Parts: sequence; structure tokens; C-alpha cells
Amino acid sequence: MKIGDIFERRQRGELTFQSIMELTLNNLEKDELLHAFLYKRPPEELMKEAQQADALWDQGIRKPLQGIPVAIKDNICVEGLPCTCGSKILENYVAPYDATVVKKLKEAGAIIVGKTNLDEFAMGSSTENSAFGPTRNPLDTNLVPGGSSGGSAAAVAAGMSLLALGSDTGGSVRQPAAFTGIVGFKPSYGAISRYGLVAFASSLDQIGIFAANTMDALLGAFVLFGKDPMDSTSTEIPIGPEPSQHNVRRIGVIKELSSLGLQPDVERVYTQFLNTLAKQYELVEVSIPHWEEALAAYYFVAPAEASANLARYDGVRYGSTVEANTYWQSVRMARSLFGDEVKRRILLGTFALSAGYKDAMYDKAQALRQWLIYEFNEAFRTVDIIVSPTTPNLPFPIGAVSDPVEMYKCDLFTIPANLAYLPAISVPAGFTGNLPVGAQFIAPRMQDYKLLSFAASLEVR
Ligand code: GLN
Repeated sequence: MKIGDIFERRQRGELTFQSIMELTLNNLEKDELLHAFLYKRPPEELMKEAQQADALWDQGIRKPLQGIPVAIKDNICVEGLPCTCGSKILENYVAPYDATVVKKLKEAGAIIVGKTNLDEFAMGSSTENSAFGPTRNPLDTNLVPGGSSGGSAAAVAAGMSLLALGSDTGGSVRQPAAFTGIVGFKPSYGAISRYGLVAFASSLDQIGIFAANTMDALLGAFVLFGKDPMDSTSTEIPIGPEPSQHNVRRIGVIKELSSLGLQPDVERVYTQFLNTLAKQYELVEVSIPHWEEALAAYYFVAPAEASANLARYDGVRYGSTVEANTYWQSVRMARSLFGDEVKRRILLGTFALSAGYKDAMYDKAQALRQWLIYEFNEAFRTVDIIVSPTTPNLPFPIGAVSDPVEMYKCDLFTIPANLAYLPAISVPAGFTGNLPVGAQFIAPRMQDYKLLSFAASLEVR
């Protein structure tokens, strides 16, 4: 049920927020197996908040997300709740304040159900890198739900929340949305405040929204968008009809993608999806020559920024404090708590920034990023929106991908939008057997509303 329908039915007296919460609590029993949550709030508290939402409604008070259960990725701070980032190093950390997004959700009347599982520090594409065990895909519990926001995706896909927040640095909202058959939206860089999001790679990180349908994601965007004095990278991005945002007529299909090795089942479903689109829109081939290299550039830029951001975990300031005689001993002991993937990224990032290698690696990756931005700008001169598959592959069995580079390749289609600061959304494109395939749409920077309203219009048909 869409959130809008819930409000209509609440108005007609056909349901209450308490009945929605009861349903959510029933679904949460599945979490025993799914492990989407690292922390769930006590059911009594959730029911009490639902009761309050009903009482306010009866007094005539209306809020945009009144009584709506929402799940929060465990790298976003909720005051008084743990914020582990899926890492042993933050196992005992309790957030002392609300992230701006959480504050906005609370003001909008949403009920926070709990904190969701993730790859450690959001590094991964399967949620298997969580120090607290993997999340399972609700569509087939032998499979991964994608990552790094796999817990948030699974929460929405299994009806354990109606909306969920994730973070998307290279695809961590869109890829798990595709793997679990739901909608995942990454806004333009700067659209949503990151105050209270634990930093991974600051020039790429964005908070994104999971929802069962695009209208719900749009509603989430209405609540969350806006400049925040607490995050100087945030900016005012319009999230309502703008005269300048003409309708979508021409959709760009990227020429270079045909050579990038889609799994045959993904290719089949995606091609059918394009054929359906072609009935309504003009599909135009566009070229983004550096698309494939974007993956390599990301794996220099993101680890470089991560290595700097993670320097603050020294065993003194946050979370697990260690018994040590000297500061450096404390640093060594605390940092041994990082998992292998995090250590790999720190090593890679430190190397990419080190004297003598920076020109060859980090600077080159940044130059490539500029090319990519230029190429997108050129493409958007002829098309309104660009389409691609969200992932090259289908959700895979837990434990099946052990080679890190194979894992990195999951992000082949999602990374360019992060590097170029663009809004992008993954929507369900179809199924092969019981497994979902996602399609991604990318819009020019700041045209988030056009992107969301276009994606929503596809669902209505
Ligand atoms: N899978 C990518 C990575 O491991 C992207 C992660 C993300 O978007 N947080 O870096």
C-alpha cells in the first residue's frame, strides 16, 4: 500500500496507525532469519508512538509521514540509539544527537523502527562485510540483498518498514534496491544534509531513500531535501514542479554498455524493459566514453577519502575504548578491530595519496572524473534522462563472491552518477524467475524532481 493510500484509508476510518504498526511488528518477526536490523526499538515504544500518531490525527493534525514506520541505516545517527556502522570498532557507540535527516523524519511524524545492517562503514555490495553477520534477501534467503545498505533494502522489501534511509557512495542504495525488487533513489550531491551520517568518501556520499514505490520515495524527498547550515555541502534543490523542468521525451541509451558484460538474464529483462519504454519515448543512443573507467577511478577516489575519514578511529574518541599504555598502542589495538575490507580500503587509499604515487593515481582519477562530468553534460544536450541497468548481475548466493574485484564490479553502472554528482534512481524492471532486475535512470544535476516524477509516471501505467 502506498503511503498516500494509507492516509486516505486513515481518513475514511478503514485503518489506524496502530494497525499499520501491528502489521509492521508481525513482519519484523521475519527478521530472526533476515537479520536486516542491528537494533530494533522495543515494540511497546513503537506501539505507543503509533497510538500518539492516531491521537494527533483525531485532533486534526496532519504531518507528511505521520505514523509511518521508517528504518535507518546504522551509519546515520539517531539520538540515544547505537550507531555501529557494522563495525566492531563502533560496537559500543551510542549516538549523542540526531542526524538532520532523522530530525526531519521525526518532525514529519515518522516512527523510527530501528537501525539496519550494512557492510562495515558502507564498504561493500552484499552486506556480507558487516561485522555482525550478513542480511538475507527476503525474495530468497540464500541470496544476498546487495549492499552496502542491504538491511534497509530488506526492511522495506519484507514490510518491516515503509521507508528506509541508506547511504549511496557508489551505488549502495540503488544496487540493493535492484536486488530486492524495490525503489532506491540517490539524489543529486548536496540535496540531502549529511550531518549525522558517518563519512565514508565525502565527495561521493549521499543519503538515499528506499521505498516500495516511487511515489513514496518522492514523499520522502519532500521531507528530507533542503539546505542545512550543519552541512556546508548541502544546497537547495527544488523538489516540486519547476517551469524549467520540461517533460521527458528523449531517453539516452548508453552506447558503451553493450560491451560491458551483462549477465544474460539481466540483459534479456533489460532489453524487454527498453522495448516497453520505446513505445512511449524516443530512445537515443548517447556516448559516455569513460563509463567503464569510472569504476577504476572510484576505487582510487573513494578509498583515498575513506583513509582520511577513518583516521579518527583511534580507540580514544569513539566506541570501543581499549586498555593501552600509550596513544599509539591504543591506535594499533583499536584499528585491529577493522574488518578486512576496511583495512584493504585504508591501504589502497593511503597508497593512492602517497608521495610519488598521487599524480599517477589520485590525480588521474580526479581528471577522469572531470571527463565523465563533461561527457554527461554533452549527453544531456540531446536527451532528457539516461537509462541503464542498475547492476550487471542478479543477486548471488551468500558466500559466492569472494574476490574483492568481482564484488567491486557490481557497481559498474551505479558509480558514474556518484562521480558526476547526479541524481539516479533504480526501479524494478522485471523478473527472471523469482529474481528481480533493476533499471536505473539518471537525470542532470538538480533535476531530481523530474527524475522522480518521470519514474512515478512509469508505475502508474
Ligand atoms: N559497493 C561500493 C563500495 O564498496 C559502494 C558502496 C556505497 O555506495 N556505500 O565502495
